[in-house]
Amino acid sequence: KDYYNTWNIRPNDEFNAPTLPYDVDLSKEKTVNPKYKEQSLFNSDHSVNMKYFKTFKYHEDDITPKAILERNDALYEKVMSHKINEPRVDNLQRPDVNYRRANATLMSLVRNSEIDGLVDSMRQVEAHFNKKFRYPWTLMNNRPFEEEFKRRVLAETDAQVNFVVIPPELWDIPPSIDIEKMNAGMKKLADQDLPYATLASYRNMCRFNSGTFYNVPEMQQYRWYWRVEPSVNYFCDIDYDVFKFMEDNGKTYGFVATLYEIAETIPTLWSTSLEFVKENPQYLNPNGAFDWLLNDNQLPDKAKLAKGYSTCHFWSNFEIGDMDFYRGEAYSKWFDHLEKAGGFYYERWGDAPVHSVGLGLFADKSKIHWFRDMGYHHPPYYHCPTSDKCSGCTAGLFTPHENILDQNCNPHWIRFSMTEKDLELY
Ligand code: GDP
Ligand code: MN
Repeated sequence: KDYYNTWNIRPNDEFNAPTLPYDVDLSKEKTVNPKYKEQSLFNSDHSVNMKYFKTFKYHEDDITPKAILERNDALYEKVMSHKINEPRVDNLQRPDVNYRRANATLMSLVRNSEIDGLVDSMRQVEAHFNKKFRYPWTLMNNRPFEEEFKRRVLAETDAQVNFVVIPPELWDIPPSIDIEKMNAGMKKLADQDLPYATLASYRNMCRFNSGTFYNVPEMQQYRWYWRVEPSVNYFCDIDYDVFKFMEDNGKTYGFVATLYEIAETIPTLWSTSLEFVKENPQYLNPNGAFDWLLNDNQLPDKAKLAKGYSTCHFWSNFEIGDMDFYRGEAYSKWFDHLEKAGGFYYERWGDAPVHSVGLGLFADKSKIHWFRDMGYHHPPYYHCPTSDKCSGCTAGLFTPHENILDQNCNPHWIRFSMTEKDLELY
């Protein structure tokens, strides 16, 4: 299939409000650095041209990060203020009497103590989406769920619920980890006052969400997952089947927001990944989201600490994805390589940058979908579309906190990974 022509956009009809043309010209959004020398991704012997990842094509030396941020904010505002409804494809699936679901589950990793927050999130997902489709829920925990927890969860849905205790080998610190080295790494983060600096449980959670959740026996029966966290908000009615939307339109991964990472938690994630790519050129996707991974001009210090990776990532507390991608050879072998390096424990690699680097290197970027119609909030960030299907969310708001407005790298996704057709999809 043509990379840049994956949408079959439906003409205006009763489901699709007429779209206005976008006030955005994507071809004018990328300015090539005059000093850039054209690089091809592969050498003639099919090895990877590693220089490709060292020289960033769109970096502009004469523009300050502040000016870049202003330009990016303007692009974000333009796109977010555009009135949208649903994806304008001809194959949205609506619920009906004999509805056949996709092979999918709503999934939440959660502790017994988070029951109030989970009920809150579930209630919104059920009201906006799942009461129409009744996808099963899979709730996972490293400890057994209490009876009271189960009772309260079951009261929120008519769908099937799987309560899963995670097998210890998919959760606990692997035996290969040198505990003294881990403690030294924890101290380093604690000295810089970084969040979750010394928590082993947080590291277990990040590793689980990065590379083992899709191998939990109860998860193996499913292909698609929608990750739901406790204490988040969903603001918009979703009247079509999002899993079938992914499947029928050839998508691998869906997100709502992209942000920068605390670079101190992933100093060697990128270099470790490039090592793998160098040894395994066959897994690199020629249409990967490389420019998005590499663009460093809004917060250049992040890319310096992360040795060339901008740290821009899909915010993984919301995600809808195809687990067969993670189970596939490229991602699994790369994950094994990351495990050997030990950065989940020696540093504090998060599942968001890990998924993002994996997708950016090994997936075709046209298979990654920005769910612009999913109004969402996980403190401190929002994704708020301009849509009649949403309420309780201020259209276009990214965060109410001025000092973290610069953490939004969604404009880089728009600029470097989206096509005109992707824009017109909504
Ligand atoms: P943050 O969003 O990065 O601040 O991290 P969270 O505290 O929200 O954790 C991410 C997800 O993992 C949430 O769904 C938590 O409920 C869950 N989680 C984190 N740590 C644990 C743990 O030790 N056990 C279990 N069962 N769930 C956890
Ligand atoms: Mn969270």
